[in-house]
Amino acid sequence: MPNDMKYRRVLLKISGEGLMGSREYGLDNETVSRLAREIKAVVEAGVEVCMVIGGGNIFRGVSGAATGMERTSADYMGMLATVINALAVQSALERVGVATRVQSAIPMSMVCEPYIRRRAVRHMEKGRVVIFAAGTGNPFFTTDTAAALRAVEMNCDALLKATQVDGVYSADPKKVADASRYEQLTYMDVLANDLAVMDASAVSLCRENKIPILVFSLHSEGAFSEVLAGRGRFTIIKEEE
Ligand code: UDP
Repeated sequence: MPNDMKYRRVLLKISGEGLMGSREYGLDNETVSRLAREIKAVVEAGVEVCMVIGGGNIFRGVSGAATGMERTSADYMGMLATVINALAVQSALERVGVATRVQSAIPMSMVCEPYIRRRAVRHMEKGRVVIFAAGTGNPFFTTDTAAALRAVEMNCDALLKATQVDGVYSADPKKVADASRYEQLTYMDVLANDLAVMDASAVSLCRENKIPILVFSLHSEGAFSEVLAGRGRFTIIKEEE
């Protein structure tokens, strides 16, 4: 295991919102650059990193469908939004000297590689960060499910879900003042209580394949490395021992 890190290979899921900073929409350069520095530190510590990035900062299928657009077309727009985010993060990572490949579930050969599992594994073994874009490539799914799917396919030791807060709470801590924070949960706790952390299909996929989910906030500097070393604040979702 690299240095004091508890995991050898991880998948980091960032929502589109996580790239917005304090903006209402789109990408915030400073936020994306800081994320790149956080990832660089982890890669330099010897951890193999792959990523799934959401698209909610640009477009969400359900919102498009609500305006009367056909749902599948709206979902494809959402998937394309994740490609835009992936290219932004790739560029920020390369600016700080981290070799990166983007692989899209919707082939786009002029822009990035198509998703090829074995090739992705090889990139990671060489120390490159692989960003999986376009979700699962299928409408009616989310990038959370894509993250769980890729984490399983890549044989990751953990799925790290970066959110706006430092773990899973009993209610939205931004709205409910006395919401309590959990240190540890089982997959069934999340599913049975419908805790809003990831959708049920993503949680089930992790459960079936015994991949722990670590929920943490990327807002505090150094959080990604801290969580991987088993320190800092996070909620871990795993099977009961
Ligand atoms: N999407 C999809 N299939 C997938 C992943 C994503 O159709 O496998 C679409 C869906 O419309 C979704 C949008 O892409 O609303 C953006 O992804 P998501 O909402 O998961 O992004 P996040 O909330 O993480 O920013």
